[in-house]
Amino acid sequence: MRLILLGPPGAGKGTQAKILVDAYGIPHLSTGDILRSAIAAETPMGLAAKEVMDRGDLVSDEIVNGIISERFDAEDAKAGFILDGFPRTTTQAEALDQMLVEKGMSLDGVVEITADPEVLVGRIVNRAKESGVARGDDNEQVLRKRLDVYREMTAPLVDYYQRQGLVRTVDGTQPVEEVTAAIRRAVHN
Ligand code: AMP
Repeated sequence: MRLILLGPPGAGKGTQAKILVDAYGIPHLSTGDILRSAIAAETPMGLAAKEVMDRGDLVSDEIVNGIISERFDAEDAKAGFILDGFPRTTTQAEALDQMLVEKGMSLDGVVEITADPEVLVGRIVNRAKESGVARGDDNEQVLRKRLDVYREMTAPLVDYYQRQGLVRTVDGTQPVEEVTAAIRRAVHN
């Protein structure tokens, strides 16, 4: 199973990805998680990415394409994967298509998780409050910036993948278990 989860920040991609990787026994490939680990480890890539992430912008296509290309070569990705937070731009989607061709792989589906931007602002503000340790990019101003970036740079990927006949749309405002059930139905149809 090779899936992409597409949707705005806070729509539940990470939560759903974690549930689905357990169900399917395939790895969760989150460029955001990999970048946050690089920041924690203070690698050159992490140091370069931190400021960009903290203000809600996208790190360069070159960096994230490199992360994914390397990750695809790991043994565990041979059985499939769930991409969460990648691709986020048309350039990334084109690079991904090329990587898949080169590695003789194809996508099974792109799940678009939809949600009202105002609901998302409320969710993320809560996530920051409840965890006590807010992510650097979990405040309302940065979130609004991330939602704008999503609309401008990432939302066009729905059309991109619609042209490949891969998009299944799921309402992300339902309870978590219902979103999971809807995704499972969508990818098995
Ligand atoms: P996420 O955890 O997916 O919400 O990502 C957190 C932040 O990491 C984003 O706001 C971006 O700054 C950066 N990031 C993650 N994935 C990508 C990507 N595919 N392209 C560019 N920037 C990314």
